[in-house]
Amino acid sequence: MKKLGILGSTGSVGSQTLDIVRVNREDFELIGLLAKRASDKLLLQAKEFKPKYISCYEDPPKDWLDSLPDGTKFLKGEEGLYAIVEESDMLMNSISGTDGIFPTYLVLEKNKRLLASNKESLICLGRLVKEKRELIVPVDSEHNALFQLLSMVKSQEVKKVYLTASGGPFRNKSLEELKNVSVEEALNHPTWRMGAKITVDSATLMNKGMELLEAINLFDLPVESLDVLIHPQSVVHGIVELIDGSFLFHASQTDMKIPILYSLYYPERRPYPFEKKSLFDLSPIHFEKVDTEKFKSIPLCKWVALMGDVYPIVLVGADQVAVELFLEGKIGFLDIVNLVEEVLSSVNFKEPENIEGILNAIQWAYEKGKELAGVKG
Ligand code: MG
Repeated sequence: MKKLGILGSTGSVGSQTLDIVRVNREDFELIGLLAKRASDKLLLQAKEFKPKYISCYEDPPKDWLDSLPDGTKFLKGEEGLYAIVEESDMLMNSISGTDGIFPTYLVLEKNKRLLASNKESLICLGRLVKEKRELIVPVDSEHNALFQLLSMVKSQEVKKVYLTASGGPFRNKSLEELKNVSVEEALNHPTWRMGAKITVDSATLMNKGMELLEAINLFDLPVESLDVLIHPQSVVHGIVELIDGSFLFHASQTDMKIPILYSLYYPERRPYPFEKKSLFDLSPIHFEKVDTEKFKSIPLCKWVALMGDVYPIVLVGADQVAVELFLEGKIGFLDIVNLVEEVLSSVNFKEPENIEGILNAIQWAYEKGKELAGVKG
């Protein structure tokens, strides 16, 4: 039995992790579930899965606590996080956004296996991620694909590594049309159902730019060997071009349960327990170049990768505030990447040495973004 903890259990990846645990109960001892809020969903998960610990960052109402099953203990916030990490062998970190950085740090510091689904932490904790690489199985579909593909070849055989992007909802819009897209349009992703932040990041392609930064840390690749291409069907998740002219593709239906299943059982493979599409349902597939005039986030993230140092960390904080301001209707769609760029050009300090410094740098970028956008508070 694997001792499993799920950090961010009520989100999309967290819930789908539990979907797999549900049909493989004998394989997992559920140590803990952690979420941000004391929601009905978290309570339902506690009742169904009866983990040893249930944890969230707010005080639950009395009737919520009273309905917890016998044998499940409530621990608030950090206390819960520490207990779950300490007693688990493997941790799914599916917390979204910058809230996931400290949990990744803790999991790796405690030398536990990390099923890594939090992007921001893989970007901001570059040094630690490189140092503890053997503990990490990436869950993000693209990195999971590349993790599998790169394990099959020698690094000197690799010519280029491609991350595929669906292109988001605005692939076919002109630059002029992009100026006026609404929040509702940006939240309507064609192939994946995800949270608001990552959906907007997919529309700007900032998500893909960040995945490029993630890949550099996860696979120790130079930025020159990485590129992004548009693949609207989201069936091929990663491509490795070899020096002899071959391309290795990793393909599967658009379904996060596949990389989640892989990560839960790595290095073994298990049968997929749900309904599967046929290869014919997945065709045709095609590839396009990224229009970098429209999607400036890609060249911007490549520049950030070349700069290294504190720049990837600042990018994460700046994008967080830029997307929030867009969602609040305070800035336009194209302003998201422009604001991130402005924050990056205000950097006047070096990469921090420790986790506090990293979190402070993100906070600095967040505040700087607000200031540059002219928003008070
Ligand atoms: Mg992805």
